[in-house]
Amino acid sequence: MKHPVYLDYNATTPVDPEVLKEMIPYIESYYGNPSSSYSIGKSNKEAIEKARWQVAELINCKPEEIYFTSCATESNNIAIQGIAMANSNKGHHIITSAIEHPAVMEVCKYLGSQRFEITVLPVDQYGRVDPQQVNDAIRPDTILITIMHANNEVGTIQPIDEIGLITREKKIVFHTDASQSVGKIETDVDKLRVDLLTIAGHKLYAPKGIGALYIRKGTVIENLMHGAGQEKGIRPGTENVVHTVGLGKACEVALRDFKQNQQNMMVSRDRLLEGLVSRLGNKVHINSNLDNCLPNTLSVAFKSVNAHELASFISNDVLISTGSACHSGETTISSVLQAMNLDFRTAAATVRISTGKNSTEEEIDFTIEVLINAINKL
Ligand code: PLP
Repeated sequence: MKHPVYLDYNATTPVDPEVLKEMIPYIESYYGNPSSSYSIGKSNKEAIEKARWQVAELINCKPEEIYFTSCATESNNIAIQGIAMANSNKGHHIITSAIEHPAVMEVCKYLGSQRFEITVLPVDQYGRVDPQQVNDAIRPDTILITIMHANNEVGTIQPIDEIGLITREKKIVFHTDASQSVGKIETDVDKLRVDLLTIAGHKLYAPKGIGALYIRKGTVIENLMHGAGQEKGIRPGTENVVHTVGLGKACEVALRDFKQNQQNMMVSRDRLLEGLVSRLGNKVHINSNLDNCLPNTLSVAFKSVNAHELASFISNDVLISTGSACHSGETTISSVLQAMNLDFRTAAATVRISTGKNSTEEEIDFTIEVLINAINKL
C-alpha cells in the first residue's frame, strides 16, 4: 500500500502507466513539428489525429469535433466566450448554475462585467439544477446555457439530457463542463444533447496541461486566440504532442476499462461510507444524494469536527480535501455548499473524499481507521 493513501482523485489523478509508456517516445525521440511536411513532422501530426480519434470514441462524437487545449479552464473559456462573441448579434443573455467550478463561473462573471447578462440558477439541497427552472429562465435573447455535467465537490450529476431537450427545442447553444464526469460515468454527447463539452486530461489519468473541447459540427464559434491556425484556429499554437498522445491513450484506456473502473470506484466509496457509518452512526452527514452522484465521490460532514483540522491531522496518512477554505483562522464555505443551503457548521465540517480506479480495500480500511481515530481525538 502506498503511504499516504491518496483519496483526492477529483483534484487530480496520477498518470496511468499505459499513458506514460505511450508518451515517452514523443519526449525522447519524436520531436518534429506537426506542421512540418517531412516525415518526423507528419508522424507527429498522425499521432495527434490518432489521439483525436481516441477522445472522440470515448464521448461518441466525430474526431473532427474534438479540439485540443491546455486544460479544462481553457476549454471552458474558448467555449463560453467564443459562443458569446459569435452570437452577440442575437442576444446577450447567458444561463449558468450556482454550483459551477470557477473555470465557468468566473468566465460568466467576466462576461457579466462586459455587455452580457448572466442568470445564475439555484440548485436543490443536493446541488441539482431543475430543468424546469432552466426552461423558465430562457428569454428571447438567451444565446448560451452552460451547466456542468457532474460537480467536483459533491459529485451531483445534473440532468444534462433533459436540459438538452429544452435547449434543442429552443435552439440555444448548450455547453457542459464534463471535467469530472468523463471516465467516471457515461458521457455521450448525443445522449446528453450538448453542443460543446469540456474534458480535463488530468482528471482521467492523463498528465496535467492537456484538455479538450468538443464542438458539435455546425456550431458557430468565434476564435479567442489568433495565430498560425492549429486546431482549425480554435486553439492556435504548436501542438503539445506529448500530452495530446497521453490524453488519447487515457481516453482509450478509460473506454476499455470503463465498467471495471466505475465498479471499483463505487465499491471503494461505498465500503468507506459503510465503515464510517457503522462506527460513527448519526455523526456522519452525507451531503449528496448517492443515487445521483459520481461513483467515486463522497461529500460528508463529521458533526462537530472542523474539516480543516481533520484533513490536516490525517495528512501524513490520508489525503483528502475540504468543503471550505481557511485563511488566517477564518473559514469561508465553498460556493457549492452555500448554493446547497448547507448550514455553516455542517459545511465547515465537510470533507470530500474521492476514490480512484485503483483504490484498494486495504487503502479504504486503513482510511476508515485513520478517520475514526482522528475524529475521536478531535
Ligand atoms: N471544471 C471542473 C468541474 C473541475 O473540477 C476543474 C478542476 O478541478 C476544472 C474545471 C478546471 O480544471 P483545470 O484546472 O485543469 O483547468
